[in-house]
Amino acid sequence: MATLSFYGAAGTVTGSCSMVQAANARFLVDCGMFQGNKTIRALNDQPFPFDPGADFLILTHAHIDHSGLLPKLVKHGFSGPIYCTPPTADLLSFMLLDSAKIQRSNTERYNRRRQRKGEEPLEPIYSEEDARATLELLRTKDYDSWFEPKPGIHVRFWNAGHILGSASAELKIEDDNGGNTMRMLFSGDIGPEEKVFHPEPEAERGFDYVICESTYGDRERDDYTLEVRREMLRKELVRGLSAGGNVVIPAFAVERSQELLHDIGVLLANGELPETTVFLDSPLAKAVTEVFIKHAGTLDDVELDEAALFRDPRFRLVQDVEESKAINRITGGAIIISASGMADAGRIQHHIKNNIWRPNATILFAGYQAPGTLGYFITSGEPVVRIHGKEFMVKAEIRQLGNYSAHADQSELLDWVEERGPVVGRLFLNHGDDDAREEMARLLATRGFDPEHIVLPQMDESFELVAGDAKSKGRLPQRVPQAELLTDWNNDYAAFLVTLTRRLQDAKNDEERREIIAGLSKAL
Ligand SMILES: [Zn+2]
Repeated sequence: MATLSFYGAAGTVTGSCSMVQAANARFLVDCGMFQGNKTIRALNDQPFPFDPGADFLILTHAHIDHSGLLPKLVKHGFSGPIYCTPPTADLLSFMLLDSAKIQRSNTERYNRRRQRKGEEPLEPIYSEEDARATLELLRTKDYDSWFEPKPGIHVRFWNAGHILGSASAELKIEDDNGGNTMRMLFSGDIGPEEKVFHPEPEAERGFDYVICESTYGDRERDDYTLEVRREMLRKELVRGLSAGGNVVIPAFAVERSQELLHDIGVLLANGELPETTVFLDSPLAKAVTEVFIKHAGTLDDVELDEAALFRDPRFRLVQDVEESKAINRITGGAIIISASGMADAGRIQHHIKNNIWRPNATILFAGYQAPGTLGYFITSGEPVVRIHGKEFMVKAEIRQLGNYSAHADQSELLDWVEERGPVVGRLFLNHGDDDAREEMARLLATRGFDPEHIVLPQMDESFELVAGDAKSKGRLPQRVPQAELLTDWNNDYAAFLVTLTRRLQDAKNDEERREIIAGLSKAL
């Protein structure tokens, strides 16, 4: 008998954290940070709803929404081994320290505000020291080889094809009373079929319990090949560069930046782009690119020699601030890739500030833009955006490439689940909002999955796993109302301000503007 609990990424896509209690051991799968609106981010500051002193932890991949609270776990008493693949450990050595620095600077900024109000300063969620202590606990395991963290518990990683080092975790848990061995599979995040660097996700079939992500359970992408995608990128870059301005690309530091560098490197090597300098302006992305170079021998679908990968003479991988500022003086003809991918933080905001008002510039988005982020407002067609407290007219060409994704889409998720069958116990759908996982459950039923065997766990809900069945043991008092997992009042407020600004801009004259404000004041 075992217990399975969901402490994050249930009805939402961030804060991945599950716990299994079985065979005299208690262990966690992932311990990620909550991301999104202020209400959900506040969960990062609250105590864990469980005792952090678990025996060990299995980490599926390095993304912060799966790994970002590991240092907090260690700070509050976890001291067991953390199992992950070798590339994941290499990525974490930069990502966790980067995350700790972000926690520190966020807290400092927040404390300055608290100080002005005469309030006590707060501590950051964790420090760089906690991050370093976490790195000491990492134990690397290759794909496709069994290991036994505790007697009677066997684990094996499968390549999940999502980002460098990403894994699905297969578990065999022996019954201490000599009964049947329980077979479980945690999908982690699953990659798409067509993805540079990584093979299609794979794993064993035939399980008692499968815990599967459902991020894109309600979204289907157009079919494409790597060549088609690169051709679309080429067209955008040629169009942008021939307009005379810069092409600014917000990109995640991990994986998306390297995919773009690979594709641009191939286009440059084939003479398919005009002469240009390509800046990758993100210290984290630069460090992560070095990790990719270290593991180049394991990468799939790479169309450049290992020695040439990410090392085109036209690339500038920028580390220091002065060099980053120097890019501001370039008014045209450069490709500038910088983090973050949704333009809500980091150096990319400076590059957007310097280019978004230029009619000959291009801002090219190559990823999902979450509601409320700067990238979301720009791609929604806002005529004016606020960056660092100042307003900027959007005159640049705003373009989007929809087919760079690290996630399997709807039919790829359904295929993956089908290929894992039979699932004799239960299929748990996590890591997706309710619309996505309800749609996925509905479609799985049409593919012959017993709907009674599909479970949509709630946050902080636990299940008793016994003899191919799963009974809910209930959930802890709610930390966040379900409705606020997606949007909270801060989002409503931001949306209202945007509507108001637009309405005032569109007004015929100042008289009408005063009327609008008078009407609103009266309503208040
Ligand atoms: Zn991920």
